[in-house]
Parts: sequence; structure tokens; C-alpha cells
Amino acid sequence: MRIEAVPGDITDQDVDAVVNAANSSLLGGGGVDGAIHAAAGPELLAACRDLRRTTLPDGLPVGDAVATGGGRLRARWVVHTVGPNARVGETDPALLRSAFTRSLDVAAEVGARTVAVPAVSAGVYGWDAATVAAVAVAVGAVRGWAGEHPDALDLVRFVLFSPAVLAAFEDALAEH
Ligand code: ADP
Repeated sequence: MRIEAVPGDITDQDVDAVVNAANSSLLGGGGVDGAIHAAAGPELLAACRDLRRTTLPDGLPVGDAVATGGGRLRARWVVHTVGPNARVGETDPALLRSAFTRSLDVAAEVGARTVAVPAVSAGVYGWDAATVAAVAVAVGAVRGWAGEHPDALDLVRFVLFSPAVLAAFEDALAEH
């Protein structure tokens, strides 16, 4: 499984599944969530509303993930995850690790081979980008997951919107 970090907009990626840094409501938000819903179109919100009506009446817990179709995205699936929100005191790295590893579990479960992943929690949720990068890349998260599931995915591509966050992920890939 290849792990890489590239600059860009996650909504443009030609991959099987795109991970969304959603919130527990699954009903849309700003940042990458807003961009994914805008690009995917109303089908995505309808799929999220269905999840809330059926399996997730209380929303998606922090650190968990769930898949929907990708609407108008090139990606066939969106994997929604909820990172911890440092602004309300959610600073446990285990929750952030779980957001990344559960996203890969769900992507593999639906049959994706290639997955694009944003810097979950590094925006509105207030985590420092270098911490997010270290947690995401480390043996405890994506690298560890790849070791445990060597044939489950071909590519995990971190797609980073800002040069500073890209640099943090490049450093983490070089160091961890
Ligand atoms: P959170 O609420 O989990 O912090 P945000 O969406 O606010 O999520 O931010 C997560 C990261 O996603 C930030 O680094 C932000 O710059 C980045 N981001 C925002 N839009 C996009 C996009 N279209 N593609 C990739 N990354 C994006």
C-alpha cells in the first residue's frame, strides 16, 4: 500500500473513495465538508439524511466513520468521519487515530482500492497541523493499519489544501 501526500483539492481526486472531515450531525458544515457537499451535489446530503433516519439517529460518534455514495464526485464513495474537536477539549490523539483508521476500515469494506484523505481536525476543529500529520502517518494510524491489512488498499493519498499543512505531512512521512 502506497502512502503519499500531495497538494490540492480533495474534491478533484480520481480515487475510489474520498474521506470527509464531517461533524457528528452528518448534515454538512464548512471547510472540506462544505467543499465535498458542494461538489457532490444534493444526492450526498440526501444519503446522509437517510443514515440519520436509519442507522445513526444520534449522529456519527467522534472517531468513527461511515460510507455513502459519492454523488457527482469522481470518487464512487465518500467516507465520512468525525475528528476530535480541540476547541471543545477533545485533544486525545487516540480519537484522531481512530478517525483515520476507521475511515480506512470503511473504505476497504465498501471495496475501495484508492482513498484520498484530508487533514482531519486541522481546520475548524483546531488541531495543530504538525500533530495531525504525525498522528495520521504514524505506525499507530495509517502505517500501522497498512501493516495489519497489507492487501486491503493500493493507495492512501493525503490531499492537503495549504502549503503549510502539506509540509507538515511531508515531514511526518519522512520522519515516522
Ligand atoms: P475539521 O473540522 O475536521 O478541522 P476542516 O474542513 O475545517 O475540518 O479542515 C480540515 C483540513 O481540510 C484543513 O487543513 C483545511 O484547510 C482542509 N481543506 C479545506 N477544504 C479542502 C479541500 N477542498 N480539499 C482538501 N483539504 C481541504
